[in-house]
Amino acid sequence: MTEKTITTNVRVYDYNELNSEDKMLVDLAREATKSSYAPYSHFHVGSALLLDNGVTIKGANQENAAFAGTCGERSACYNAGANYPGVPIKKIAVTAFTGGDFVKEPCSPCGVCRQALVEFEVQAGKPMQVLLAGRDKVYILDSIKDLLPLTFSEF
Ligand SMILES: [Zn+2]
Repeated sequence: MTEKTITTNVRVYDYNELNSEDKMLVDLAREATKSSYAPYSHFHVGSALLLDNGVTIKGANQENAAFAGTCGERSACYNAGANYPGVPIKKIAVTAFTGGDFVKEPCSPCGVCRQALVEFEVQAGKPMQVLLAGRDKVYILDSIKDLLPLTFSEF
């Protein structure tokens, strides 16, 4: 028997320490929370993608009474897949707004979104940087695989 240790490297920034590109993407994710339709959870998730071609895409969770809605992260990456097929996603920023303010702790994608994002990253053949934004702090990871170790993939 051997034991394997898996580590995840997370860099923690204050919002003001971010470079201009990362600030722009976090700001876009915050703006996207306003497009969320979340009458059931009242948890308004916003995301923003920066594609390799410079295009930015916003996403926001869209709920419905059948509880078969779509998360903010997948609404953005499916939009990218539909409108810019084959263009790698360079970065994704995620945040959430609830109870009258942005979440204090950085917001992290659910397991389904992690799987969807990993597949975009694998198809692109290059890592997708992940920015998880809270009210003041932003976690930055260099690959979506850092959020989904031992990734399920047929590739
Ligand atoms: Zn999700």
